[in-house]
Amino acid sequence: MASIAERRSEGARLLDWEPGMPLSREQACRLISCSDDELPEVLCAALEAKQRFKPGVITYSRKVFLPLTNLCRDYCGYCTFRRDPGQPGAHTMTPEEVLQVARAGEKMGCTEALFSLGDKPELAFPEMRTTLQRLGYKSTLHYLEAMCELVLRETSLLPHPNPGLLSAEWIARLAAVSPSMGLMLETISDRLLAPGAAHDNAPDKVPAKRLHTIEEAGKQQVPFTTGLLIGIGENPQERVDTLLAIRELHRRYGHIQEVIIQNFRVKPNIPMKNWPEPSQGEMLRTIAVARLLMPEVNIQAPPNLSSPYYEELLDAGLNDWGGISPLTPDYINPEKPWPHLEELKMRTESRRYTLRQRLPVYPEFLPAIVSRRSSLLSERIRSVADDHGYARRAT
Ligand code: SF4
Repeated sequence: MASIAERRSEGARLLDWEPGMPLSREQACRLISCSDDELPEVLCAALEAKQRFKPGVITYSRKVFLPLTNLCRDYCGYCTFRRDPGQPGAHTMTPEEVLQVARAGEKMGCTEALFSLGDKPELAFPEMRTTLQRLGYKSTLHYLEAMCELVLRETSLLPHPNPGLLSAEWIARLAAVSPSMGLMLETISDRLLAPGAAHDNAPDKVPAKRLHTIEEAGKQQVPFTTGLLIGIGENPQERVDTLLAIRELHRRYGHIQEVIIQNFRVKPNIPMKNWPEPSQGEMLRTIAVARLLMPEVNIQAPPNLSSPYYEELLDAGLNDWGGISPLTPDYINPEKPWPHLEELKMRTESRRYTLRQRLPVYPEFLPAIVSRRSSLLSERIRSVADDHGYARRAT
């Protein structure tokens, strides 16, 4: 069996690339389509890059998942979360429900309140306009802003909103009540907007609009989570181009705090129920290429979507497991339960890493947030962060 040094030099030959040098599009396209025989060398190079970036540590965020509303004006072909008004399970959380879940999470050591919601449902549904009127808010974003502030004031949790497309004004407003926010770019491919494709009835999934939101967050120096959803009809070159678009925005603004590589999982009740899932090999190649394209950006893959292959994901160069909840289910993939935190710790340690609990905002972004944001937000961050920027109640 080849030693790591031998595999490294084989990997460098395959890559025609020196560790530490930026990877070109051509090289990335070559690697993302590498053969099974070549894959171990690609993974080895990615793992080395991860170890240079954050040696010895894998992070996760202990969170509660708050599905503020599952009404959404989009109809993504893979979505099991969204509802129309009146459909079974359609629900908009009340402030009391938000606070109840946040407080229960606080008792279980959670430090993140992840607000996940449909995009601008009031534009499509009069029922949502009525609900918002009853609650006393002009729009879903106004309601979200108020709920972020409520959680911030009443609990020790830090909000991380994921509300879809945002204007510059809304990024600024939400940044006053949350240290970080997120929007999955998913794909750069316009082909997926064509009739019959995953985004053919999803006006908020136009790639240029999503890039615009991510860029506005960059201009305002908001730590931002984005990523890819793989296996929804894009090809390997389009995965590379999506990663390159994220890399370019990060080069300009330095605000991409993590890139999620999420794999499509089929479900019985979705329009894409007969669609093939991406293979484990595709997932590993995409994680490895993401790491090699962005060696100093946090790379995350959700463990529940690749269970039981946690160790393989670690070997591909990720350094974060994302949000794991000891309390609330994964509403986006309800059939794939999050791993028990003890199991995650054990599996992470089996590869000789230490599992650390982070906040929704990564440690390297904390000093700027604490110095620039509202006093309430800065005060909350100081009270939950340890000296290294991880969660004070670290695992
Ligand atoms: S994935 Fe998001 S935007 Fe698409 S339908 Fe579901 S909730 Fe709406």
